[in-house]
Amino acid sequence: MTEAVLTLNAGSSSLKFALYPARTDAQALLRGKIEGIGRAPAFRATGAGGQQLTGPDFARFDAAATHEDLIPALFDWIRHQQGIELVMVGHRVVHGGRDFTGPVRLTPSVMGDLAALCALAPLHQPHNLAAIRAVADWAPGLPQIACFDTAFHRTMPRRAQIFALPRRYAEGGVLRYGFHGLSYEYIASALPAHLPPAAQGRVIVAHLGNGASLCALKEGKSVATSMGFTALDGLMMGQRAGALDPGLVLHLIRQEGMSAEAVEAMLYHNSGLLGVSGLSNAMQVLEASQTPEADEAITLFCDRAAAGIAALIPDLGGLDALVFTAGIGENSARVRAAICARLGWLGLELDSGANAQGLSDISTPASAVALRVIPTDEEVVIARAARALLPEGAEART
Ligand code: ADP
Repeated sequence: MTEAVLTLNAGSSSLKFALYPARTDAQALLRGKIEGIGRAPAFRATGAGGQQLTGPDFARFDAAATHEDLIPALFDWIRHQQGIELVMVGHRVVHGGRDFTGPVRLTPSVMGDLAALCALAPLHQPHNLAAIRAVADWAPGLPQIACFDTAFHRTMPRRAQIFALPRRYAEGGVLRYGFHGLSYEYIASALPAHLPPAAQGRVIVAHLGNGASLCALKEGKSVATSMGFTALDGLMMGQRAGALDPGLVLHLIRQEGMSAEAVEAMLYHNSGLLGVSGLSNAMQVLEASQTPEADEAITLFCDRAAAGIAALIPDLGGLDALVFTAGIGENSARVRAAICARLGWLGLELDSGANAQGLSDISTPASAVALRVIPTDEEVVIARAARALLPEGAEART
């Protein structure tokens, strides 16, 4: 049987997975997603050549099926339908706090530390941990590791991590943690193949997906990022407002009488592209729409992204390259063009033909800043970490 490492990315209603060869740095054997958890779970997966794979029978699962029910079905399918034996599972975990600065082997003590961080990421961390527990229950001897979205940013200097609040808050862990770290780690690892050496010096990566953030990279390390204590900060996103006047939150609570839960729901789920357009959180849908509200939402998204990029330049002392990635960054020529248009004063010049064609190199030869589109791959980063932490001669245990 082929030995593989499994990567899992568990959200509230979805479970993304991918399988990589255990001993070689080769491409994914297959990847897929279980969607609709809590409603009607649906399975889809594609093989290495992009072919659709027949999934397990999910007809027996209904709205009551949880990650704990679906993970055994996934494991059975991997072993019996795909003939793959697992030697390690690597999880994407959103929050590693101050102390987890890299991937870690999961033990009961580490799980205790990660559970304590749920308060910092209440909408994501509990689902990540539920998947880890479900694997541990089903395959108790199978080694598991966690890879954190926050860890990549722990190289930021202290002054990029603290807020201008009384000191005791920073000492108590109120810090700019930053997120999307697995995506930035992937891009940092891919940069040498995409950019001339000089451009690996001062790079801003724009991760523009449904969640969106920016990272300033100096020699491949994070020195500043737009997300903060929570994943609400920074850029306008699909459903999140991004950075706001904190006085506005006080106003909503005092004058509008909103509860903390109602404010949370508004800021996480009903704002951003969805809130401004009144139509959708998906850029693709807004681009296809003719309404002035959709147009305004796209314009605001691009303005905020350009302003965010400009705000990171002092942390780098200049800019050699700007990289676009994630769903919008990789696919929307309109968004890339609008952001670059607002940053033209940097001497940055977009090659509009290359941009429209979706090429990787989208800057003109005269541009003072190299512009690139690089597809991200968070799963590869988890798989590499899993291989690196694989015990020598580990037995397959599913
Ligand atoms: P996440 O992983 O944060 O859920 P993705 O990185 O998959 O999000 O990005 C989703 C976003 O990318 C959505 O706004 C979607 O509409 C947008 N997107 C995907 N394909 C295109 C496209 N061809 N044109 C414009 N936007 C696109």
